[in-house]
Amino acid sequence: MLIVMRKGSSPQDVQRVLDLIEQLGFRGHAIAGTERQAIGITGNPGPVDPALFELLPGVAQALPVTRPFKLVSRELKPDDTVVAVGDRRLGGGGFTIIAGPCAVESEDQILSLARMVKEGGAHMLRGGAFKPRTSPYSFQGLGERALRLLARAREDTGLPIVTEAVDEASLELVESYADVIQIGARNMQNFALLRRAGRSKLPVLLKRGMSASLEDFLMSAEYLLSEGNGNVILCERGIRTFSQHSRFTLDLSVIPVVRRLSHLPIVVDPSHGTGHRDRVAPMARASLAAGADGVMVEVHATPDRALSDGPQALLPAQFTTLAAELREMALVLSRRPEVVS
Ligand code: PEP
Ligand code: MN
Repeated sequence: MLIVMRKGSSPQDVQRVLDLIEQLGFRGHAIAGTERQAIGITGNPGPVDPALFELLPGVAQALPVTRPFKLVSRELKPDDTVVAVGDRRLGGGGFTIIAGPCAVESEDQILSLARMVKEGGAHMLRGGAFKPRTSPYSFQGLGERALRLLARAREDTGLPIVTEAVDEASLELVESYADVIQIGARNMQNFALLRRAGRSKLPVLLKRGMSASLEDFLMSAEYLLSEGNGNVILCERGIRTFSQHSRFTLDLSVIPVVRRLSHLPIVVDPSHGTGHRDRVAPMARASLAAGADGVMVEVHATPDRALSDGPQALLPAQFTTLAAELREMALVLSRRPEVVS
């Protein structure tokens, strides 16, 4: 249920609503909006009687929320969520480019790539320290050493760091070095990990599971918000279909639907979504055209020698060209220019 407050209702009115929710044994979530203050109710096993709230001072309406996801839904929060990362804002009309290697491989590799993608137009740096690999014999990432190197790359370039946590122990480490915690496709329904990330102060970039419906995806985001973390960035990265020409099928049609159903920003990862370098730029451009809030792309100076995902990595010069195209497109599409350049 959603309690919508009247314009000009007082903080005491809001507190009274929150107190009643607590007395009933549910959880209240205050949601400040530009137009109105609202309070979401979760934890209620069945419908709540609207009259309980509508009689309280300052309350305009008590509305049932019709979707299974509550806190992530636009019904609950009509305004776009804008996630602050360093001095950057992701969502709400800009376009954010996150770039970097699949994995941090060495000091030289990450420092030089960080400089190249920064020069090329990236706004944030990605790079895996903990790699969830299909084979236990594949490169698993450099762990904490990679996190230290990413922090050095941030010092050097000013780019905020996005990196994946694969379990609760790595999440604690990621939290102490990075700016955004990535939850990977394979962990999208690791509910213990989601709950832990939901208690973090850092924003979370949540990737769509490769077999997840949109509802599954949004319900996973709901775990994060239900624990108090509203700074969630959704990431479409391709799903499994019968199609054989691509590593995954990038589901760009999810973007306008997410926009309608949720206030959370959504970025697209065309690197994992296609698995082939030559398809990354077209799908990145399509993502922007379809209304995404950003893209995350893998870049490597020597992809033939990359320890993971070489075939889908753009060369630095290809990345620079793509970023320039995206900047121009964003301006044509009236994205807010101050956050595009
Ligand atoms: C990644 O971004 O490096 C990654 C492993 O992605 P995904 O979880 O989407 O496979
Ligand atoms: Mn990768």
